[in-house]
Amino acid sequence: MVTHDGSTGKTVESAVTAGSLSYRWARHGTIRVYVQQSSPLPGWTPRHLTLVDEAVKAWMSSDDVRIELVSWPIDADVRLYWTDRLPASNPGVTMLYRNPAGRLTHADVFIAAQPAPWNTGTPDRVLYATIAHELGHALGLPHDPSPDALMHPSPLVTAVTAVDLTKLRVLMQRP
Ligand SMILES: [Zn+2]
Repeated sequence: MVTHDGSTGKTVESAVTAGSLSYRWARHGTIRVYVQQSSPLPGWTPRHLTLVDEAVKAWMSSDDVRIELVSWPIDADVRLYWTDRLPASNPGVTMLYRNPAGRLTHADVFIAAQPAPWNTGTPDRVLYATIAHELGHALGLPHDPSPDALMHPSPLVTAVTAVDLTKLRVLMQRP
């Protein structure tokens, strides 16, 4: 967990690496997601964008959350960028920004353009799982100890499962 104060010295919002705790969004309604539309990084293909669409649909399959893709970062609550700066052991990271009440104000997701060299599925499925796992964090979900959860810290599955959707429902119905 990393926190920092603003440069003014006043804590306007704080940043935390997603994983250990669950968070609720400050705003209600549709969560707007911007996705970096192309990248010169080795391994990046337009297929990456298709996998983001697939992950968004998977999280929305429960009707507990509405996600809309937007064209500009400034319009977005969640911004997804492709990177080559992450180790193969940790191919995705999500930074969450919280207001003083602890509610999420925005999130930045970074996904390795190269799929992690894991044997849990084909490179395509591993990349998909990385994207969907990090989007789960951006929605506010923490890690899940269940081996059936994509939100497991080292997921064995490559799909958003019923376990994940149940946790999302509980989170979204929390007051
Ligand atoms: Zn995680």
